[in-house]
Amino acid sequence: MGILYIVATPIGNLEDITLRAIRVLKEVDVILCEDTRVTKRLLERHEIEIKSRKAPPSAGQRGRQLITYNEQRSGASIKKVIRLLEEGKDVALVSDAGTPIISDPGARLIQEVREIGAKIVAIPGANAAIAALSISGLPASDFLFLGFLPHKKGRETLFKEIAASKRTVVFYESPHRILKTLQSLDKNLMASRKIVIARELTKIYEEVISGNSKEVLDYFEKNPKKIKGEFVVMIEGV
Ligand code: SAM
Repeated sequence: MGILYIVATPIGNLEDITLRAIRVLKEVDVILCEDTRVTKRLLERHEIEIKSRKAPPSAGQRGRQLITYNEQRSGASIKKVIRLLEEGKDVALVSDAGTPIISDPGARLIQEVREIGAKIVAIPGANAAIAALSISGLPASDFLFLGFLPHKKGRETLFKEIAASKRTVVFYESPHRILKTLQSLDKNLMASRKIVIARELTKIYEEVISGNSKEVLDYFEKNPKKIKGEFVVMIEGV
């Protein structure tokens, strides 16, 4: 039986990958990814060879196969991964950024691979929430991680829970929704609560913005060009 490796990749800066992750990606038979264009950039940067799907077997290519894996599409791809493992192939799962499974696909795959008794190995590395917390200045010995907030059902209740949380609250947000979310936080939070937003971590336009809900909302309303890229939102506990 092959091994399934869950490999963390960078959240922006392609150097943020461990030596072990590079070795494992060089050694496995198959790499499962979300978007082949994103993963190819990482593999090229670290000289990890992949086989071209177009070349005939006679071309004697070196390297491993790169296949997209998307949990939502169907259960078929889980079956395919299980077949590969049963054939003795080692498989690595990566996501576009950071640690797979954390607000990313793969939880169902792991459940099913566990059921067949195959070995699953974590190759730890970057994670946007942890990187953001580490420079936030907010208490982070324990915290509440909410992933992406729901768009509709339960959203208002969640803001009330965030407002009442004694722990630092952390969540992911997209540029399309950040203003709406900051407006809801402004409606629900007391003026004394501190918000820290980490934007584009490890990338050229990396930025950390902090203040109370009104100050942070004002900042983005006055700087619409900053409503771009990727955001981690952190809120101080009560
Ligand atoms: N699995 C990833 C991890 O370990 O962090 C998270 C994947 S989730 C689909 C993507 C979200 O993570 C983005 O919408 C953003 O909220 C956050 N994120 C990813 N990279 C980031 C970065 N460089 N700076 C700030 N936030 C980032």
